[in-house]
Amino acid sequence: MTTELLAARGLTKHFPVLGGPLGISRVGTVRAVESVDLSVARGEVLGLVGESGCGKSTLGRLLIRLLDPTAGSVTFDGHDIAAAKGAELQALRRRFQMIFQDPYGSLNPRMQVHEIVTEPLRLAGMSRKECRERSSALLALVGLAPEHGARYAHQFSGGQRQRIGIARALALDPALIVCDEPVSALDVSVQGQVVNLLRDLQAQRGLSYVFVSHDLRIVRHIADRVAVMYLGRIVEIGDKNAVYRRPLHPYTEGLLAAVPVPRPGRPRRRAAVQGEIPSPMNPPAGCPFHPRCPLAIDRCRVEMPVLREVDDRKVACHLAS
Ligand code: SF4
Repeated sequence: MTTELLAARGLTKHFPVLGGPLGISRVGTVRAVESVDLSVARGEVLGLVGESGCGKSTLGRLLIRLLDPTAGSVTFDGHDIAAAKGAELQALRRRFQMIFQDPYGSLNPRMQVHEIVTEPLRLAGMSRKECRERSSALLALVGLAPEHGARYAHQFSGGQRQRIGIARALALDPALIVCDEPVSALDVSVQGQVVNLLRDLQAQRGLSYVFVSHDLRIVRHIADRVAVMYLGRIVEIGDKNAVYRRPLHPYTEGLLAAVPVPRPGRPRRRAAVQGEIPSPMNPPAGCPFHPRCPLAIDRCRVEMPVLREVDDRKVACHLAS
């Protein structure tokens, strides 16, 4: 039996930019995700990192078909989810879920918590009585008490609201969850608790996560492998420990340089990445990172590096060896 649960091939998402006198003419294209290949194994946590605007949240949504791709395919447990329709798509949707960044905006303020948590079960045909019984178990899974089910979302702290979102995501017993910056809206003091909860649930239930975050410290804590995105493309992907210990792409190295991780006895890294990420409407020619890359050579300005195997991972840089 294959251990691969999810695989994306050539996954691409372009958004039209509309303008002109009536605001309906296409005046440009945002190239949010460009030809991404990746896979997620059963029970694996893949961290997806990069600066804000690099396309990682869009990629997370494409992987579970919250967005339709412009090109490419996503296979989930052998099913092409980009092509799935009707009953097949509905059945597949039960097996992957999303935890959203904003625990304030993603919960319906007019529903009691037990209704929020069990709404996916009701939509799948479970009776109200069964839902009520499952609600207490789901709340207990995320460290909340059964009586919390009768309250409303605004009566909870940010960390508790995210726990409610996690309970809802677990209701249908999914195999894969895309966690989209799940703790970035929370106080630093509770971020660790929620990440530890996610990690414990993942281990207990053999879940796969695609964990989207701009915070490399959190990704280091939870991920098995890490994929680094820049301007819609994966520029480095590999085992977390290998990538953090010896980044091979200058962008990865720049991101890690901005993280105050103690590395006793090791030389200081190069400087953090300088400048702003270019517009995905008008990405630079050649290597998209070349305007910010301290190692850029003439070739980088004209030739796009392909993602290729280098040692124990894949890297998109002409100089990686
Ligand atoms: Fe830097 Fe060139 Fe490598 Fe791009 S291909 S990351 S510009 S060295």
